[in-house]
Amino acid sequence: MSRLREIDQRHLWRPYTSRDEHTSREFPNIVGGSGPWLFCDDGRRLLDATGSWWCNNLGYQHPRLVSAIQDQASTLLHCSYADAMHEQAVLLAGELVDCAPTGLTRVFYSDDGSTSVEVAVKIAFQYWQQAARPKKQRFVVLPNAYHGDTIGTMSLGGVDEFNAVFSPLHFASMRAPAPSNGDWEPTFSWIEKTLRQNGDEIAAVVVEPLVQGANQMQMYDAAYLARLRHATEANDVLLIFDEVFTGFGRTGKMWAANRGEVSPDLLCTSKGLTGGSLPFAATLATDRVYAGFDGDKTRALMHGHTFYGNPLGARAAREVLSIFRDEDIVQHIEPRAKRIAESFEKIGEISGVLCPRSLGMIGAVDVGRRGYNEMLGHKVSDVAIKHNLLLRPLGNTVYVVPPLNIPMVDLEKMLRIAHDAIDEVMKEHG
Ligand SMILES: *Cc1c(COP(=O)(O)O)cnc(C)c1O
Repeated sequence: MSRLREIDQRHLWRPYTSRDEHTSREFPNIVGGSGPWLFCDDGRRLLDATGSWWCNNLGYQHPRLVSAIQDQASTLLHCSYADAMHEQAVLLAGELVDCAPTGLTRVFYSDDGSTSVEVAVKIAFQYWQQAARPKKQRFVVLPNAYHGDTIGTMSLGGVDEFNAVFSPLHFASMRAPAPSNGDWEPTFSWIEKTLRQNGDEIAAVVVEPLVQGANQMQMYDAAYLARLRHATEANDVLLIFDEVFTGFGRTGKMWAANRGEVSPDLLCTSKGLTGGSLPFAATLATDRVYAGFDGDKTRALMHGHTFYGNPLGARAAREVLSIFRDEDIVQHIEPRAKRIAESFEKIGEISGVLCPRSLGMIGAVDVGRRGYNEMLGHKVSDVAIKHNLLLRPLGNTVYVVPPLNIPMVDLEKMLRIAHDAIDEVMKEHG
């Protein structure tokens, strides 16, 4: 056993990993990367379809990102925003507002996706307390939502495998019913009805717009976003978009909100915000929401993180925005998205494969019954890794989320290996 593996086994507590899996599985030791490729210490090059937990939107080691971070490291690594300001955090705020859905004018920084949602929840709650509507305390959420792993965001979440054990600690969200046979109409009409009937006790509706990543890449139509916007406005309820996964081009537009041509009252972003290079996050709010905190000390948002506005993270995010501009990242998604869609349609024709779906730079299928503890998906990843493709199935859901700028040849290779691995497993076990 290598020295690193030995220490990993002795001292690491891996995320979402049982001791059995920790001790039995060979985890590749990554020593570098480039574009969609990861380099291992044993000389292998792995094509990464997981986007490093869905955050790697520009490929590994984008040279401009690397030098921007190096440059910033030599200037200012960190200084708290408590009693000071610093350039990168200031300039990023303006640049984020410029590219955000219209009306989002205020930026609150935090450290990761979970905290960006936690912040949005606290803002929405306190907003109504200070607006003399103290009964508006509840949050309406989608079925099987995932908004992070903190106690607050788990309270919004509905993926039992993550949450069930902690349920006594959660506040009670109002959860819409699951779509029936892929039809989301009942889910969204339930939300509309609930807002009409109980709007005076509801603070906000929180959704992952268009794609529920952790809910095994379930997708719904952009028209529902417009309906949500309409219903929340009509009933004086805030609308929160968790764009931690969908933001920064993943769905083929800069924001999933752009696809529905709507603007939420609060928007959460992380993952792609730094191109997946550094932990960093932001919660954006409208003037109206910010105005709810006007006044003296007693009305301030009492929330803040040590690394609020971290200069390295902010500098990385600014560089990501300028790479998006200079390299026309969003404009170049279309041909790639088309290939992902075609290819997953084709995978859907393999006997036993269900529900081929795609949106922007996301493609997914189910290789059997849904559920996190289903194992056929893992058989697919076991086959794929033999061909140097890294997949991380969600139970029986096999998906790819490549960098938005993946070279076409690498994309074709990724799609071909994924197809063949699924085909092989379905022939054997399907
Ligand atoms: C990943 C994710 C989160 C949590 O982000 P972390 O950085 O892991 O805390 C929240 N919401 C969505 C939609 C996500 O995909």
